[in-house]
Amino acid sequence: MGWIKTFALTALLVTGSLPVSAQGDSNTSLAFTNVQVFDGEALIPATTVVVESGVISVVGEDVVVPDGATVVDGSGRTLLPGLIDAHVHTFTPAMLQQAVVFGVTTVFDMFTSEGFAGQMRSEQAAGAVTTRADMLSAGMLATAPEGHGTQFGIDVATLTAPEQAEAWVADRVAAGADYIKVVIESGEEMGFSQPTIDDQIVAAVIQAAHEAGLLAITHVQTLEAAHMAVAAGTDGLAHMFSDALPDQALIDAMVAGDVFVIPTLSVFQSIGVDDPVDTSLAADERLAPFLSSADLQSLQSPYHGFETLSLANASEGVALLHAAGVPVLAGTDAPNPGTAFGVSMHRELELLVEAGMSPSEALAAATSLNATVFGLDDRGRIAEGHSADLVLVDGDPTLDITATRAIVDVYRHGVPVDRAAYRADLDALREAAANQAEELAGSGTLLVSDFESGDLSVGFGNEWAATTDAQAGGDSTADIAVVEGGAADSGYSLQVSGVVGEAFELPWGGVMFMPGAAPFAPADLSSRPNLSFSARGDGSPLRIQLFCANTGQVPPEWAFETSDEWQQYEVDLGTVGDCDPSGVMAVIFSASQAGEYSFLLDDVVFR
Ligand SMILES: [Zn+2]
Repeated sequence: MGWIKTFALTALLVTGSLPVSAQGDSNTSLAFTNVQVFDGEALIPATTVVVESGVISVVGEDVVVPDGATVVDGSGRTLLPGLIDAHVHTFTPAMLQQAVVFGVTTVFDMFTSEGFAGQMRSEQAAGAVTTRADMLSAGMLATAPEGHGTQFGIDVATLTAPEQAEAWVADRVAAGADYIKVVIESGEEMGFSQPTIDDQIVAAVIQAAHEAGLLAITHVQTLEAAHMAVAAGTDGLAHMFSDALPDQALIDAMVAGDVFVIPTLSVFQSIGVDDPVDTSLAADERLAPFLSSADLQSLQSPYHGFETLSLANASEGVALLHAAGVPVLAGTDAPNPGTAFGVSMHRELELLVEAGMSPSEALAAATSLNATVFGLDDRGRIAEGHSADLVLVDGDPTLDITATRAIVDVYRHGVPVDRAAYRADLDALREAAANQAEELAGSGTLLVSDFESGDLSVGFGNEWAATTDAQAGGDSTADIAVVEGGAADSGYSLQVSGVVGEAFELPWGGVMFMPGAAPFAPADLSSRPNLSFSARGDGSPLRIQLFCANTGQVPPEWAFETSDEWQQYEVDLGTVGDCDPSGVMAVIFSASQAGEYSFLLDDVVFR
């Protein structure tokens, strides 16, 4: 999903990159005693689970715990298979690290760059990865030129005729795709119009996928698109449509064709005009200590009230399909607005229960069912021979689904994830932010840089850094250097130069200042919202791009022009878009027009 154009840009820029470490290695054996087990389908009363070399070796009442095994008392607790999120978009290893902190040990990516997917795949194949979730991926998606999926800056090979389908799928197979993702999206239900592949191309791609032995999963947002996808032979729907309820013909066709659905209700919580953003995850004290400021920002971002869509429709649609016997798989569509990696699975499970599934059915939808449907026979269950991807929680989530949030420990291949260290890193960031907030609460001028020290240092926040669209797949460049000669005959200024390319649809190149206590942590500049700076340059159009905690995924801009004379500029950040200066994450001075650019920056202060 993600039709907001700067989605990938923001996801890439504003991604927490806290390291996750493992405690120990998978050679040691492990025994959970007295533990209630949800085995992927049903509950087993208090029993013993033994793990050896990262694999579940035995489950049963009268088993012998091996000598030297680490024994974990499971009294009052439930052991679950690691959760499998069947719909995400992954751009960095940090996202996969974050997932395991919340018990998500495998993700099914539904579109990312094939290079990144290939890198993750080969690292996973080289040996057990214990500090992040395993990732399967479709890589590229099948869409029309200028269609949904082409807006993210990733180079997409598009389709215009059914005859291209076979070669297109062969390219995906060569790139290592684990399954094929198809997009039917006219944009109509969201009030705009965009090209989409027709029913013949959809059918040809799905047929070619099947001939290659791969599943085909199709993005739909409307009942009409769902009909087209099912008629074309899709194996699954990537979303629950919410413009209408499924009609009987669709239900019958899905049952007859054994078509599954991955509803992604998490991302649809604020889809309708009357659907509010959900705040329950951020308010849950079992989860809150593990949420970064970037997670909080994403969770509070609305998915945008479309008039003809509603969560109620999606939820009732899930209920109807589930009652008819259509397999429902848990997936979140993280990190789209309203969601965050890992944590959103806990809300998805709750939403599935609210849609009429029993807690055990919802848990199966996030474990054994996801594994089975996607052909993974080594995970998703607590049974002999399965990988020890495990989540130990307090309480019984088959009675209260929110007990999945009471995580005691997460294991990847039998190795505990160091959640305490992850939380401690976040605590340190929060403390630094609080200290900084005190500093920033005063009055007077707040100097960022006059560059008279001759380097990139700053009075507060993070050092100046070059920034370009290269991280989003673009080819723009930026070089920054402190040079002699500054405004008002001062000693030094900051030179920013490079070339803005055309490979990314929304190109940029320039320099970034992040005022927070850590990169992309929001800083409260409400006491001094006036940004003042001096600049001179070659006259190419420049702008300030402002990342604010309250403006969601789209950075508001403020344009300015330079000449070969130094000029002073002043802008009240509170007047740039809807930015609330109490949460400023980054200020980017950038060139936006293709071609070479060069400018000097000096005397950057907040008043
Ligand atoms: Zn998606």
